[in-house]
Amino acid sequence: MYKNYKEHLDKTLSEIREAGLYKNERIIVSPQGAEIELNTGQKVLNFCANNYLGLSNNKALIDAAKKALDNHGYGMSSVRFICGTTDLHKELEKKIAEFFHTEDTILYAACFDANGGVFEPLLGEEDAIISDSLNHASIIDGVRLCKAQRYRYNNADMTDLEEQLKAAQNNRFRLIVTDGVFSMDGNVAPLDRIYELAGKYNAMIMVDESHSAGVVGKTGRGVTELHDLKGKIEIITGTLGKSFGGAIGGFTTGKKEIIELLRQRSRPYLFSNSIPPLVAAAGIKMVEMMTETNTLQDKLHSNAEYFIDRMQKAGFDIKPTKSAICAVMLYDAKLSQDFAAKLLEEGIYVIGFYYPVVPKGQARIRVQLSAAHEKEHLDKALKAFEKTGKELGVIK
Ligand SMILES: *Cc1c(COP(=O)(O)O)cnc(C)c1O
Repeated sequence: MYKNYKEHLDKTLSEIREAGLYKNERIIVSPQGAEIELNTGQKVLNFCANNYLGLSNNKALIDAAKKALDNHGYGMSSVRFICGTTDLHKELEKKIAEFFHTEDTILYAACFDANGGVFEPLLGEEDAIISDSLNHASIIDGVRLCKAQRYRYNNADMTDLEEQLKAAQNNRFRLIVTDGVFSMDGNVAPLDRIYELAGKYNAMIMVDESHSAGVVGKTGRGVTELHDLKGKIEIITGTLGKSFGGAIGGFTTGKKEIIELLRQRSRPYLFSNSIPPLVAAAGIKMVEMMTETNTLQDKLHSNAEYFIDRMQKAGFDIKPTKSAICAVMLYDAKLSQDFAAKLLEEGIYVIGFYYPVVPKGQARIRVQLSAAHEKEHLDKALKAFEKTGKELGVIK
């Protein structure tokens, strides 16, 4: 039986290779950080991690995790509602709610699970989900698991959102769903205008702050801080896997009745293991650090401003952004790959994205800034971009 199936798989895999879409993984042998070492022995500056606040290898988080290993052990061997809840899980939930000015929080193994488990328990076939066209894959999958009627609006297009809200007026409840920051362009969702339209057309809002938490807003509270809407959004989802330490874990935070029902009915919560205590302990420390000082957020903001400003002055075409994602537009797929390969030779690790990850003719290099970057790292990257840009005829 497997013989025929193996042929089928071999054919599919070679189609992926021929289309140039085969993903190869680089192997890192050092901790994640601004400077990383690959298994080839090459040392490179990392500009493609979601390590926005540089916490992936933070001493205070590691110490908190080690302490939890000693006093709470390694694993929970349980889902939350049987015997998988420790004092650390409850404290982290409370801390995340305080951070976002929400009422309660529920933890998941990942934000993929938070998004996968948020819609189905909350909405039924009488209801409407109105989703941005560029929302994350986990939102798309979560919506698929829910019986609610689906509406889609073009990315951040408020005229289109209004049309969809009008079309959904006969539904019982309406939920608008958006990423806080869209990962390929780095643009921030226009939450102020979404909020106005939600008021006008009687809808609720869900924001996925995975790329915006820790990054956007003066103190890193995300798009609800940027648009002065703290505490006013019904549902926020997010990850502990990007700014917030970079390990693993996700959450939904918001109105307390919503969180209460998710604890009763959300399938990835009910049927999947709880995060290890050491991750919860490091998460608590992370929120405490971000509340005590704004050093990391400030450094990230100044790094992003500095880098983007210099890139524009050098003549690169940069997508407008208020996030730590800098999309360097090259438009041509092959050029994006050649450019990234040359940068790696210069010791700068970035990824070139092209169709189908981004629209046809919209190839780019995505640079992700971090509070872990020092000025010398940024200057080295800028120099490499300018050199390569001139060599490949992208800038004069
Ligand atoms: C990264 C990301 C996720 C997934 O987060 P994990 O915790 O890694 O599962 C979900 N939504 C958005 C918008 C993301 O960027």
